[in-house]
Amino acid sequence: MQIKRLRLTGFKSFVEPTELRIEPGLTGVVGPNGCGKSNLLEAIRWVMGESSPKSMRGGGMEDVIFAGTSQRPPRDFAEVAIHCDTEGGVVAGLSDASEGRELEIIRRIERGTGSAYRANGRDVRAKDVALIFADAATGAHSPALVSQGKIANVIAAKPTDRRAMLEEAAGIAGLHVRRKDAEQKLRATETNLTRLSEIVADME
Ligand code: ATP
Repeated sequence: MQIKRLRLTGFKSFVEPTELRIEPGLTGVVGPNGCGKSNLLEAIRWVMGESSPKSMRGGGMEDVIFAGTSQRPPRDFAEVAIHCDTEGGVVAGLSDASEGRELEIIRRIERGTGSAYRANGRDVRAKDVALIFADAATGAHSPALVSQGKIANVIAAKPTDRRAMLEEAAGIAGLHVRRKDAEQKLRATETNLTRLSEIVADME
């Protein structure tokens, strides 16, 4: 999967709609201090399902909404759209919405109502979005998104954290989520079976 375009509206310092084209290969973001380099990377993480306000450098998720300046009033919503080329890969859970190679995920947050996601125009859950990107060996915590100070973190990482990076690069991170879901369903089924045998025993 390749990220082709990113569109931000009211996200942190990007108050006006801003669209960026992302070319194949390595992309670096350069600019003066405070111009919004980290905000851009955070926008990619956010639209991919980041759920921790702390990792977005905020106290709450609504802090990603443009907070206003002395010249401009704050905004009521923030929206980030990411446009990807699926390169023919199957997109989990989007069989009828992912025809062709184009995939557009939009995340929007409004003050007081929380976040909502759309994938190719269809409402989806945060979990679906996380799985789509996990299967494509990327996501909000992908080592491919290298923020300032990240290289030092990788060098100092514990073996378990390095393993998570390798699993993500290999595209198997999504399997952990599915395994957890399957285990929960298995436990629920076992409880139902136990209950059923009790009822059958009572009837005999
Ligand atoms: P540096 O090179 O110093 O790390 P940077 O280019 O990475 O800087 P960012 O940290 O991405 O810059 O952007 C910081 C700017 O974003 C600051 O001016 C800050 O006021 C602004 N900003 C962050 N959150 C919001 C928000 N919710 N509303 C308005 N502006 C915001």
